[in-house]
Amino acid sequence: MIKPVYLDYAATTPMDPRVRQRMLEVMGHQSGFGNPASVTHVFGRTAAAAIEQAAAEVAALVNANPDYVVWTSGATESDNLGVIGGARYRQAQGRHVVTAATEHKAVLGACAELQRHGYEVTYLQPTEMGLIEPAAVSAALRADTVLVSIMHANNETGVVQDIAAIGALCRAAGILFHVDAVQSAGKLPLDMQAQYVDLLTLNAHKACGPKGVGALVLNAATVKRVEPILFGGGQQRGMRPGTLPVHQIVGMGETARLLQLEMAEEVQRILTLRDNLWSGINDLPGILLNGHPEQRIASILTVSVAGVEGESLRFAVDDLAVTSGSACNSATGEPSYVLRALGRPDVLAEASLRFSLGRFTQPDDIQQAITSFRRAVTHLRALSPEEL
Ligand code: PLP
Repeated sequence: MIKPVYLDYAATTPMDPRVRQRMLEVMGHQSGFGNPASVTHVFGRTAAAAIEQAAAEVAALVNANPDYVVWTSGATESDNLGVIGGARYRQAQGRHVVTAATEHKAVLGACAELQRHGYEVTYLQPTEMGLIEPAAVSAALRADTVLVSIMHANNETGVVQDIAAIGALCRAAGILFHVDAVQSAGKLPLDMQAQYVDLLTLNAHKACGPKGVGALVLNAATVKRVEPILFGGGQQRGMRPGTLPVHQIVGMGETARLLQLEMAEEVQRILTLRDNLWSGINDLPGILLNGHPEQRIASILTVSVAGVEGESLRFAVDDLAVTSGSACNSATGEPSYVLRALGRPDVLAEASLRFSLGRFTQPDDIQQAITSFRRAVTHLRALSPEEL
């Protein structure tokens, strides 16, 4: 049997051995198991110091103050805390939120929860290439708008939004700007100051770090806190109570450090591989690129294939670990709501494949993907020839 090629880095990534090593060191450390809130003894203080270092590493990646890194269980929680916690923190000013129809479900679900509690939410539609125009954001702002949430890079198409332009609009209007940067961290420069971001969502497992840990980073200059969505002890200034998982957080810190160190080189390498993949398949008739041809991150290539049926396509490339749309859509079997929002009809949204590359993707993997994809499309077209 052919070894399956992993091209689903946008869903999750293999852990970098250097990250694993750091985590093991913490777990094996004689006093590193302490509760970081127990600062009266050395066990707690050792753990607290490890967390402090991780906060500095994450903050350095996004130009933030380490004291304002709020650790969470992952990006879903960070999105919930950013959107719900941010909106509730500002509720005296109003109850209107602006987001996009192409956001991750973690943001859309949080917005739906706000709506159930009397908030109004405007869902902006993207252009056909997946862009959210800053002018459209501007037009949606109202006197009672308290928060705008727009992701940096889309998880299905890789399309990159102009967050600095949107952030500037929000800052001028005194509105909180939340950005989900899960897919762009380590792929694009992130600077919460220069890009006017107030609340930033990150996680570790999309960037060769551990699953189950993330952060909501607050811009200390503009927002001192958000309302909690979990209640318990007073950890993390009450914004996110719960004993901190030291090994996970250390893993996320090391993940951020490596991203910062290696981003430029890694992105260039991945971009070359992705472009090779695209040029290896785009001469086939009926292959459509989803999203913006230039304004997208290096690691994602999403295509729709005209004239073939979605399920047969996925079945025919069974030596490739790829998804149709996002992993979440794969689970429900629904055609991607993101591709539909870009105006793709259901059949094309169904017959789509997302290839996502990462740190351990090799040229051989891309060659196998090209061969497998070409074989699949040619075979399926021969079965049901149709004018394209
Ligand atoms: N936001 C984006 C853009 C994502 O791609 C994902 C991953 O599915 C999430 C949020 C949720 O991340 P997590 O798995 O850490 O909860």
